[in-house]
Parts: sequence; structure tokens; C-alpha cells
Amino acid sequence: RMVRLRERLARSGALGSTLLRLLSRGDISEADWEEIEETLLLADIGAGPTDELMTALRTRVKVLGTTDPEQVRDILREELLTLVDPDMDRRLAASPVVGDDGEPHPATILMVGVNGTGKTTTVGKLARLLVAEDRDVLLGAADTFRAAAADQLATWGERVGVPVVRSDRDGADPAAVAFDAVKAGREAGVDVVLVDTAGRLQNKAGLMDELGKIKRVVARQAPVSEVLLVLDATTGQNGMRQAQVFAEVVDVTGIVLTKLDGTAKGGIVVAVQRELGVPVKFVGLGEGPDDLAPFDPKGFVDALVS
Ligand code: GDP
Repeated sequence: RMVRLRERLARSGALGSTLLRLLSRGDISEADWEEIEETLLLADIGAGPTDELMTALRTRVKVLGTTDPEQVRDILREELLTLVDPDMDRRLAASPVVGDDGEPHPATILMVGVNGTGKTTTVGKLARLLVAEDRDVLLGAADTFRAAAADQLATWGERVGVPVVRSDRDGADPAAVAFDAVKAGREAGVDVVLVDTAGRLQNKAGLMDELGKIKRVVARQAPVSEVLLVLDATTGQNGMRQAQVFAEVVDVTGIVLTKLDGTAKGGIVVAVQRELGVPVKFVGLGEGPDDLAPFDPKGFVDALVS
């Protein structure tokens, strides 16, 4: 998968090649540095991280005084890796937990994000990954506002071979469906319950009410292990604003960046981690069931500067 990501980034994104070309010049002019900065900003790395990277590159490339592309590539790789924060803990909390009652409860993972970002698809793909690790998974279709979401999730459930708890009527209370799903998962003794939620962003108070209620209600059945925020990598600054709103209303524990296959702007990984202080845990690389990968900082940076 990382190979595919690398191919796609290399094909679509001029980030790595532009930076390497400019940085390998013997005497880098101010105009070159400006182009480097622009290239970083265009890749959605964000203003703060771009400044940091610029300072580091100016210093190191100047000190080294090198035009050797391999040395320049190594510097760039190291500095980008620092920005991606390779030491963040990206493991998914997907093992059953013992509750206050001393009983085992499934790991409960809430998937949140604006509609259209790929939330439902990501629930299906994540279920696939977990099943491949021999975990028992159950899905909860608590996106009751988008009419087709529950059907879509049911299709994923069939495809991946995991049960789906849904309401039999449209417009049901999402918290009630989430509660039923976690209860069913607990009774069945599954390892993980993945809950798909609705992402209507018409106003912050509404979102806060809705997600807050889901979380409270679910917590009566099992501690919430993770809240994964699903973001569409192709939406740039708009996506960043969405991310901030979600982070303000609920404790996000990880980010899933979808549609990274469709953009040259992989720098958004850096920007969103920095902004939220939360690790990117998975990346979406396509629409198929196997197109979700745990985020690997080193592979990602290699892909950018290959
Ligand atoms: P939701 O409204 O957030 O639940 O979004 P969906 O799961 O319905 O996804 C919206 C669209 O994005 C669908 O056409 C998905 O197939 C597509 N999609 C989801 N993840 C990815 C991804 O990683 N890459 C690509 N190219 N498309 C994706």
C-alpha cells in the first residue's frame, strides 16, 4: 500500500522533486527559497510547520554547502520526519477493556466527521483490518440522518463478514442506535464495536449535543476507547476548520485522513496533527475494502521525497 501511495504522490505531487531540485543548487537564491516556501504551503503543510522547516533547511543546507542530491534528500527526509512526529503513539485501542463492574467490555470506537469525508467507508475498511487481525467486530449504524448510510454500512458488514446493528426506521435517535450496538457487542462478547455517527455541521451546539449524547449513552455500556475523526485530505483549509470544530466538541483520540490517493497535498498530515495535537492513525488510499493503511510516518516521508 505504501508503494501505491508513493507512486501516486510521485505522479501527482511535485513536492519532493521540486524541493530536491531547488535545494540541490549550489547557490540557493532568495527567489529559490521563496519557491521552496510556496511549494510547502501549496502542499498544505501549514504556515507554522513551513516556517520551521524553512529555518531548518536554510541552516542545514547552508552549513553543509552541498549540492549532492543524496545528501540533500537525506536532510529533507530527516526534517520532514521530525515534522510528522514519528514518536506519537498511533496504535488503535482495539482490545476489550475491563469496566468499573469488573466485566470485560468491547473496545468502543466512535467514528466522527462531516458527511462525505468517507466516514462510513472508513468504518467498513477499518472493520476489514481488524478482522484480518482476528478480532471480533460489530458495527453500529448511528448515522441515521443520511438515509443511505445504514444500507451502505450493512453492505460493508456483509462484505467484511461482521454483524451490523441498525435501526429499522429512518431518523431514529443516533444515541439509541449507538447504545443498542454497544449493548449487542457486549452481549456477544466481541472485541471491538465501531460506531458510525452522523456529521452534520450546521452548528456547533447541535453537533456538541449530538456527539455528547452519543458518548454519554455509550459510556453506560462500555468506556469509549477511541474517538476517530475522519477528514478528507482533499479539502485543505476547509478540512482544518472542520477538524477544529470537532476537536472542540469531543475528545478526539486519532485522525483518519481519507482520499490521500486523490491529492498531491499530503502535507495536510503535518498541519492537522500539529493543529490538534492528535496523531494521524490511518490513511485512506482508495475506495476499496483494502484501501486503508495504518499511518507510517517513515513510509510517508519516503513517499514524499522519493
Ligand atoms: P460519509 O458520508 O462520510 O460516510 O462518506 P462515505 O463513506 O459515503 O464516502 C464518500 C465518498 O468518498 C464515497 O464515494 C467513498 O467511496 C469515497 N471515499 C472514501 N474514502 C476514500 C479514500 O480513501 N479514497 C478515495 N479516493 N475515495 C474515498
